This record gives sequence, structure tokens and C-alpha cells, in this order.
Amino acid sequence: MEASSLINFFYIVSAILFILGIKMLGSADTARRGNRLSSIGMLIAVIVTLIDKQVFDSWVWIAGGIGAGAVIGFIAAKKVQMTSMPELVALFNGFGGLASLFVGWAEYQKIKDANDGLIGDLLNPSLDHFTASVVFLAVFIGDITFTGSIYAWGKLSGKIGGQAKVFSGQKAFNMMLMLGVLACGVLYAAAPDGEHAYGLFLAFVGLSLLVGIFGVMPIGGGDMPVVISLLNSCSGLAACAAGFVIQNNVLIVAGCLVGASGLILTIIMCKAMNRTLANVLFSGFGASAQKAGGKQEGEMKAISGEDAYYVLEAASSVVFVPGYGMAVAQAQHAVKELGEILEENGAEVRYAIHPVAGRMPGHMNVLLAEADVPYEQLSEMDDVNPIMTTVDVAIVIGANDVVNPAAGEDPSSPIYGMPIINVFEAKTVFALKRGQGAGFSGLVNQLFFRENTRMLYGDAKATVTDLVGQFKD
Ligand code: NDP
Repeated sequence: MEASSLINFFYIVSAILFILGIKMLGSADTARRGNRLSSIGMLIAVIVTLIDKQVFDSWVWIAGGIGAGAVIGFIAAKKVQMTSMPELVALFNGFGGLASLFVGWAEYQKIKDANDGLIGDLLNPSLDHFTASVVFLAVFIGDITFTGSIYAWGKLSGKIGGQAKVFSGQKAFNMMLMLGVLACGVLYAAAPDGEHAYGLFLAFVGLSLLVGIFGVMPIGGGDMPVVISLLNSCSGLAACAAGFVIQNNVLIVAGCLVGASGLILTIIMCKAMNRTLANVLFSGFGASAQKAGGKQEGEMKAISGEDAYYVLEAASSVVFVPGYGMAVAQAQHAVKELGEILEENGAEVRYAIHPVAGRMPGHMNVLLAEADVPYEQLSEMDDVNPIMTTVDVAIVIGANDVVNPAAGEDPSSPIYGMPIINVFEAKTVFALKRGQGAGFSGLVNQLFFRENTRMLYGDAKATVTDLVGQFKD
């Protein structure tokens, strides 16, 4: 077998391992194995590429890069809290984009330097239109992914405010930026060896960095999951373009897989919120959240742990609705214990999971799986809503936006149309939260002012542990 066929054979093996790995991520039981399988696929791809390109002269740089990357990745993954996982994903996406930017830039710089006589070992130091076009795509998408992800990381980690930032003329400004990038890109790709090519290249590098920042700026914190997923898809597309630049098949395949899966997840999340991607990206959702959610009727009524215990003691059907606050409080084990006690007491217990509860897709499923909550007790929103009127007590544990009735009732609300878990239809609702803080979207939640809602104030873990204690006494 020829060496190139052997290389491609191993690339196909890597691609198959990536696909199997992604498939196994679909279930909590097989996810770890899937991750490992994909990592092995990547290891094979890296080793085969190093052999193919015969770059062992630079082994100190390569070993240094692999070593530093492995150490930083290992420490970051070990230290990260479950609640900060989306931030970590945002950073990973961002650095993926930066890598594609560097690959595209390095390849172009190499050819340019050869043209300028600065290096002399290239066989054909001219840039064809196709290569120039994919250099442009790798750099442009990589740039947007890099700065967009860093900005999204800043919003999610609270380093910059989570609210959408809008200013007058913003859409026109963003449009001008995009047109500027495209104009520079087209002119560059049309004459990649021309005298203005390098200037055009630097111009679209700079402008694309700005597109990432100003593109994410008007998107509110509540929409960050969609943005992260979209940027993840972009990091794949940038890698794919970089694969064309350096003509590496496995990078093209891996980039396509990341690009496609990120896009599918983005669409699933938009559907879960009943919004279009264009609405998420361009509507400035969240900028006017405080205003729109400002009106409220009635008052929040608190209940003591003891009184809540009496209600739960008599309940024959209980639904837990976890949200971001459960993750913050790390209350999942206490919640599971309370669920078991209620079952022993004769109640039917369910856990209703909203697709965007928490701060990342599947956030609640992961936490409840960690606490060994039986899989068959988890209900999806569409399954639990039809029976909500028969539920005696709905216990909302640090969830807010995903149970806000304004989504179905108030056409002026920014979240109008987003499907929610209809806990307000249950006979009694207990809402567990620390105080009167709003949810991630910044909206006031009418649920907390309803007749059938009682507030159980305090850290969710402490409150649930107290309820467990009441049953045990
Ligand atoms: P929200 O962010 O809407 O609400 C969280 C609630 O938890 C708040 O009301 C807060 O109130 C309460 N809380 C915080 N800490 C504690 C604690 N220690 N104990 C008790 N309560 C606590 O969460 P939801 O899960 O309802 O909604 C998710 C939101 O996040 C949606 O807007 C979604 O779009 C967005 N999002 C989702 C992502 C995803 O992929 N799933 C990713 C990023 C954002 P208080 O401060 O008063 O305690």
C-alpha cells in the first residue's frame, strides 16, 4: 500500500472513531466511553499527521505545544465547577477559532515570505484563488469565533454585564463591518499575489475580530446557550476551512462534524425557546427585559419549612422542577433524598426537565444522574405539562425563566412564545430561591405572585435538607 493511502486509511479510522464517539455522547451511560473513543481518534490523527508531514525537526516545539496544551486542559477540566462548564466550553471554542486563524495566517505568511524572497525553500510560492479563499474563510470565521467566544465567556462569567448591550445605529454599524470584511476578502482572493493583498488581509483580520465582539454584544445573557452552540459550530467550520488551507483530510472531516453537530444543537435550542436564530442574534433580546417584565400583581407569600412539610406530607403527586439555582446550591443529592422520602410516603414523584434549564444543554440531566435519580422518573416538558393540573405540589428548585407564565400569557414579554413548564397549573407551587432576585433573562416572574405559590426562601440545599429533616423528625 502506498504511504498516502495508508495515511488516508488511518484518517478514515479517526473519522469513524469521532462519529462513534459523538453517537455515544447521546446517552449518559455511554458518554464517557464516547469521549474517550473520540480522544483516541484525535490522537491517531495527530500522530499520523506528524508522520505524514515529517516535521520531526521541530519536535521541541511540537512536544512543548502538546505538553502545555495537555497540562492546561487537564487542570481546567479538573478544576471547573459544573456551573462554570459553559464558560469553559466558550473558552475552548474561542481557542479553536484562534488556532484556525493562526493556521490560515501562517500558511499565507509562508507563501508571501517566499514571494518576497525571505524564505527560499517553497516549490511554488504563489497563492491560487481557491487557497486564498479558504485562507480568508479560516481567518474570518476563526476571528469571529475567537472574539465572540471570549465576549460570551465574559458575559457568562459575569466579568461583563449579562444584559444585551444595544446602541442606536448598531445594526447598520454591524452591517458595515460585515460588508467591509467581505469586500476586503473578495478583493484579496481575487488578487492574492497583488501589491495590496497583504494590506487587505490585515484589514479583514482586524475587522473580523470586531465582528465577533459587536455581533455578540447585542445578544442577552438568556440567549448565551444558543450563542455558545453557534460559536461551537463556527469553530468547526473554521477548522474545516483550515483543513482545506493545509490540505489535511482529517481536519476537514473533524471540522465538518463539529460544524454540523453545533448547528443541529443550535436549532434544537432555538426550537426549545420557540424562536428563530435570526431573532436570537439580531433582536437585542434582554436589553429591555427589566422594563418589559416590570409589572406585577399581588405579593410574594413566604411559607415556613414546617408548614411546607404539612402540605407535602398530604400530597399524592409531586413534581420537582430544577433550574440553575439547584446547580448553584449543589442540592441534587438532597433533592433525591426528599424524592425518596415522598415516594415512601405514598406520593408519585417526577422530575420535570426543561430543555434550557440551567446554563447548558442537559445541565439538569447531568446533575440528577450524578445523584442517581432513576431515569424513569425524569419527564420531558411535553410529557409533564398535560398532567400538571393533577399535580398536588410542584417544587421549583432554583428555576425561574423556565417556569415564567409570562412566556405564554404576556405578548409584550421578551420571552413570549417560549415553551415553559406550566407549574402555575399545579394545585400548590413551592418556589425555592434565596431572595427576590430575577432569573437569567432579568425578568420579573409572575409565578411568584400567584395565589397558589408559596416562597421557600433560602439556599436550595439548606431548604431541601430542612424538609428532609422535618420528615425524619
Ligand atoms: P434562572 O437563571 O432563570 O433562575 C435561577 C434562579 O435560581 C434564580 O431565580 C435565583 O434566584 C435562584 N438561585 C440561585 N442560586 C440559588 C441557590 N443557591 N439556592 C436557591 N435558589 C437559587 O434559571 P432557569 O434554570 O429557570 O433558566 C435558565 C435560564 O438560563 C434561561 O433563561 C436560559 O435561556 C438561560 N441559559 C440556559 C442555558 C442552557 O443551555 N440550559 C445556558 C445559558 C443560559 P435568587 O437569586 O433569588 O436565589
